[in-house]
Amino acid sequence: MRLLDLQAVDSSIAQYNHRKANLPELTRAAALKRRVGELDDELIAADTAVSDLELDQARAEADLVPVRQRREREQQRIDSGSVTDGTTLSNLIGEVQQLTKRIGDLEDAELEVMEKLENAQADRERLRAARAEAHGELAEVVTRGRAAMAELNNQVAEAQQQRDAVAAELPGDLLERYQRIGAKHGGVGAAALVRRRCTGCQLELNAADVERFAAAHVDEVLTCEQCGRIVVRTAESGL
Ligand SMILES: [Zn+2]
Repeated sequence: MRLLDLQAVDSSIAQYNHRKANLPELTRAAALKRRVGELDDELIAADTAVSDLELDQARAEADLVPVRQRREREQQRIDSGSVTDGTTLSNLIGEVQQLTKRIGDLEDAELEVMEKLENAQADRERLRAARAEAHGELAEVVTRGRAAMAELNNQVAEAQQQRDAVAAELPGDLLERYQRIGAKHGGVGAAALVRRRCTGCQLELNAADVERFAAAHVDEVLTCEQCGRIVVRTAESGL
């Protein structure tokens, strides 16, 4: 009967350990860590895109400076009235028109770059927000996971104390035998015999075993012929 008490405590410990290894918070945290990692990679790409476009915009702006200066110079020459030759004047006016068109083209190109830059900045903001959210959730899940783990550790420690107390009452050879069988049978070394059925393997005893078990001395350690576990007779064994 003490073996069954030990089995009950050992099964609880196994259950707590199973829960520790399968905490939903652990799975969620792993997924969130992956997500944060992916977002970090995407953010690096987004940062690169933004800085590339910033360079493009600076270049487009720089391209405009000499053309604007030149148009201003030519326009001043026209406005000053110093150019009196008709052909030269009309060439100058033609050049200013050319420069105006060129400036228009360059400004269009710059506007296009600025639009792309704004989009890239907006993308980066979205990624930053998503990363902050995932990271926040991760911190929360880790905190919850730690609390659940601490609770389970307490339960294991408590059960372990009970186990030690029960194990101390059992003869060393019986304990060793129970542990050896348990190691081979999913942690269940001893099972109660209930209504002529081994609760370790759920198989019913045959008539010969029923007779043999019923006749066995109360202290004799019996083994299930089907699964090899220690079977413990109880008031419900039906012998
Ligand atoms: Zn069995």
